[in-house]
Order: sequence, then C-alpha cells, then structure tokens
Amino acid sequence: MYNPKSKNAEEFISHEEILETLKYADDNKNNTDLIDKIIEKAKTHNGLSHREASVLLACSIPKKNEEIFKLANEIKQAYYGNRIVLFAPLYLSNYCVNGCVYCPYHKQNTNIPRRKLTQEEIRNEVIALQDMGHKRLAIEAGEDPVNNPIEYILESIKTIYSVKHKNGSIRRVNVNIAATSVENYRKLHEAGIGTYVLFQETYNKESYEKLHPTGPKHNYAYHTEAMDRAMQGGIDDVSLGVLFGLESYKYEFAALLMHAEHLEATYGVGPHAISVPRIKKADDIDPSAFDNGIDDDTFAKIVACIRIATPYTGMIISTRESEECRERLLHLGISQMSGGSKTSVGGYFNPMPEDENSAQFDISDRRPLDEVIKWLMNLGYLPSFCTACYRKGRTGDRFMEICKQQQIKNFCHPNAIMTLKEYLQDYASEETQQIGNKLIEKEVKMLDNENIKQTVMEDLEKIEHGERDFRF
Ligand code: SAM
Repeated sequence: MYNPKSKNAEEFISHEEILETLKYADDNKNNTDLIDKIIEKAKTHNGLSHREASVLLACSIPKKNEEIFKLANEIKQAYYGNRIVLFAPLYLSNYCVNGCVYCPYHKQNTNIPRRKLTQEEIRNEVIALQDMGHKRLAIEAGEDPVNNPIEYILESIKTIYSVKHKNGSIRRVNVNIAATSVENYRKLHEAGIGTYVLFQETYNKESYEKLHPTGPKHNYAYHTEAMDRAMQGGIDDVSLGVLFGLESYKYEFAALLMHAEHLEATYGVGPHAISVPRIKKADDIDPSAFDNGIDDDTFAKIVACIRIATPYTGMIISTRESEECRERLLHLGISQMSGGSKTSVGGYFNPMPEDENSAQFDISDRRPLDEVIKWLMNLGYLPSFCTACYRKGRTGDRFMEICKQQQIKNFCHPNAIMTLKEYLQDYASEETQQIGNKLIEKEVKMLDNENIKQTVMEDLEKIEHGERDFRF
C-alpha cells in the first residue's frame, strides 16, 4: 500500500503506485488539456507530484516539449540565477565487499589494484585539490567494514578539514559512502559533513537484488531507508540519485520523485540535491551490457522534468558526461557540477599510468578546473565556490524555507561573487582572471540590495589585499 509517510521502503516506494503512475502517464501522453494544466501548475514554481511530472516526461507532443524545456530554464533562472557551484570527488578507498554488477570496485574484480589512502596521502590529495582551487569535496569509498570502517572515514574528514595549504582550505566535505546505521550517521553529522549522498542505483526491488547479488548492499530495504536513518542521525541535507541505464528511466523517475515526496512528508524537508549519473565504461564493465541506456535527448528531458518537479532541489552533473552534454543540461536545471575530477584512489597527487589505474569509471570531461571555469563564464554562468549555507546553519528546512521564497539569491549570489574572486586571485590563469574580473564587475552592478552591494565591494577589495573567506 502506497504511503509517503511510512518508514517502510516498500510503502513509500510502492511498486504498484509506480506501475499505475506509468500507465497514467502513458495514457495521457497526448492529452493536451491535461498537459496544459500541469504546465500551468508548474509555472507557479511550486513543483509537481510524481504523477504529474511523469505525464510531462511521457509527453510526446513536440510543441509541448518545447514549453517544458523553456519552463525548466525559467525555473532554473528563478531559483539559481546563473550560478553554478563547483566541487570535486575525492576517492579514499576502492576496497569493497559488495558484488554490484555495474561497478568495477565489485569484490570479484582482481584486475584493479586495491588502494586505501593513508592520512598522509589524503593530505597530499587535499593539497593538490586546494591548489586547483577547490573548496568543496565529495568523499567516495567502497563498502568494506574492515578496510574502510566509519572510524577511517571520520579520521579522513578531520584530516581534510585540517589541511590549510597557502590560501587553500576545504570548507565543505560531502560524503558518498554506503548505507549505514543511525549511530554512524550521527558521527558523520558531528564530524561536520555537508551533504550525505547515496545513490539508490535502482528503485526497482527485483532489479536491485539482481544488480547487487552479494554483500550488505544486497539489502534493498536497508539501502532505500538509509536517508531516513541519516535524518534520524541529524543529517538534514541529503542527496538522492539513480544510476540511469540500469532500469527503465520512467520507473526510476517516478520513484525518485516519490522518494523526495517521502522525505518532505516525513521530515518536512526534501532532498538538498539530486544527482543524475549515467552508467559508464569502466575496468570490467561494458555499459552496453545494460538494456536501459538512455540517449542524450531523453537525458535532457529527464533533467528538465526533475527541475520542474522539484524547483528548490539542487541538481548535480559529474564529469561522467561530456562538455557538450553538460552544456546542454546547464540550461535545463543543473546547479552544481564537478570539475577537474579524478575517479581513481590517489589520482590527484600522483596519477597512475592508465593501465595501473584504479578509476571507478571513465571520465568524459577531462578538462582542468581552470578551463571549466573559463568555459562556464564564457557561457554566461557565474562559477561559485560557496560553502556558506551549512557553515551559517542554513541547512535542512531552514535552507528550504529560504529557497522556496526564492531568497537564496540574496545569499548565494554575493557569496558566488566573492568565492569566484578568491579563485581568480589564487588559482586562475591570466585569461580566466581577465574574463572573471569583468564578470564580477558586471555582477556587482546588478546586485539590487544596496547594503549587500556595498559590503561585497568592500570585501572584494579585502580579498585583493589577501584576506579570505567572507560570506553572507
Ligand atoms: N560505495 C558507495 C555505495 O555503496 O553507495 C558509494 C560510492 S560509489 C564510489 C559512487 C557511485 O558511483 C555509485 O553509487 C554508483 O551509482 C556510481 N557508479 C558505480 N559504477 C559506475 C559506472 N560504471 N558508471 C557510472 N557510475 C558508476
């Protein structure tokens, strides 16, 4: 029985409700009246239910699809303006006891060297990341209670926050590790993490169990209820995602939105962000072996429909995707992206030759961070290294309140300007600096609150004179 407030995975992600939703969406995919009504509702920028959004996703009327893309772009502008937040993944360990059939870190794979960074090696990775200009990391690790226990993850977080190289510092550590207990989530919360990230991979229980044949990750309920435990442990910023390609995208889309609705209904706060990874080639993984791969057009439609359905939820794209694909998705709702990423353990400080590589998957966008920043600015975006919200206590429902009132621009925009200035001063190439300084000048002029504008101008000057870390 479908119940968004239930704490039981199979009730808040009800298979029957998803099948009914897919039928409803398919029956109405050419129903212009209903599609118009849903688009009208979405224009209020208050989001859509999984059923309504599924109708838009199924819609096959070209003219209506144009309206959907246009609306996604408008909503993105209203909530996120032209800001794009940058981050990088940091792989701590590829030891893993699970048997996930799409991931090269699965236990049976003897091709890849297994590695776990020491604290000294983490320090070196963080210095390399700080020297690129990063301020926000997402730490990644396989699941292995012996090699990667929670104590190791906690010690690593402490190390990451402690490194201060030149003007660098990592100000926000997001964590992408396997589903764990309330007690461990509490420890992560106390360690000062930003967002807890966990991809569902697939919401279809039967497929999930086949794709995770062995190891603790086999347990569908434990994995699907992880965000509930994270909330109970005090983490109120959580990030969802599915690995597109494993199951039918329409099924995943409806379920992902149901998961968001469950969090909102139960804890009063939806997901902080949604990631949209697609399965990629990796050591012993051939993506074409999975039947549900999605083309770029379908992918763009999914991103647009997520943006419309959950306007106040950030959306993240990684370097799994090419420059071309990332550019297209930026217009449709992406608000965060990784840049200059390495997906191998130890890949930043001392990259291994390709054949000894322990990369989790092939990266498509291999450009250095400086090029990504320049590209974003040339496209009219404002790259942001802001980490202010959670450091100012604006997390969970407090953040969502500000976001729903479309107030984040009063915080995020000035913070984006100031953190970009820091980047330009400390890490940018000359060309990027020139483009960036012009952009900052333009963006400051456009700030409509005179007090904020005055403070930003004073702080920008202080940044030029060597001071760092100003924030609203
Ligand atoms: N091990 C953790 C867990 O159990 O959730 C998460 C860390 S894992 C390094 C991060 C994510 O990479 C996984 O959740 C999965 O969605 C994604 N991933 C795994 N194999 C992939 C592949 N071949 N292509 C693209 N993404 C992949």
